[in-house]
Amino acid sequence: MQDVQKLEQIYEGKAKKVFKTSNPDLYIVEYKDDATAFNGIKKGTISGKGVINNKMSNIMFQILEKNGIKTHFVKELSDRETLVKAVKIVPLEIIIRNIAAGSFSKRYGVEEGTLLKNPTLEFSLKNDELNDPLINNSHIMALGVADENELKQISDMAYSVNEVMKKFFANIGIKLVDFKIEAGRFNGEIILADEISPDTCRFWDAETNKKLDKDRFRRDLGGVEEAYQEIFARIQNS
Ligand code: UDP
Repeated sequence: MQDVQKLEQIYEGKAKKVFKTSNPDLYIVEYKDDATAFNGIKKGTISGKGVINNKMSNIMFQILEKNGIKTHFVKELSDRETLVKAVKIVPLEIIIRNIAAGSFSKRYGVEEGTLLKNPTLEFSLKNDELNDPLINNSHIMALGVADENELKQISDMAYSVNEVMKKFFANIGIKLVDFKIEAGRFNGEIILADEISPDTCRFWDAETNKKLDKDRFRRDLGGVEEAYQEIFARIQNS
């Protein structure tokens, strides 16, 4: 593992770059400070975000692994770089919600902050040109995005991630409002990939409901860097 060399970049996304390595089963992801919202319409930089998202994702992946969830995490290489399994991403945004917020609140006319009677699971097709449209299970199978067995694995994994994360964040005084994960295919298996960070989750302080996530950037609430630092400090001190 020590002698894995970073080779050419194969992909640059909104918040990360992905590099090949000398081992075909491994990639290196590099987290950037770039921030986008509303499918790239709003652009900016959140200073120090790449370091926090890298380290926080790696902490979360290790907690999830301890709880029996397979992830792409292999090894943190530096403040911004992590060695991961070379998965093929299933082009779905997998979203779990515990409390109504964001697009869910708008779509169904439910006040932000309403506690949902059960966690919800929804999928969006990852396609920037189409603006990541909502997609249901039969559409996913009809289009060959994932088969029935994979969809079951993805759904089970998403609910399990929620149970582990909800407890973890409750212990550090945070409500896990909702989050987005991505799944990858690796050696015929579905595993958790991408990142788990304030870019991809909504975190509210349990007492004050203060937002400690990317909504501060999306909604121009100020204190963006401080919010990322605060949630990360709570995780580190847990
Ligand atoms: N989310 C994400 N990437 C996306 C869209 C959503 O990480 O492209 C996350 C978002 O941070 C939130 C959850 O998924 O934690 C639900 O987001 P929602 O559907 O409410 O979308 P938004 O209101 O952000 O448009």
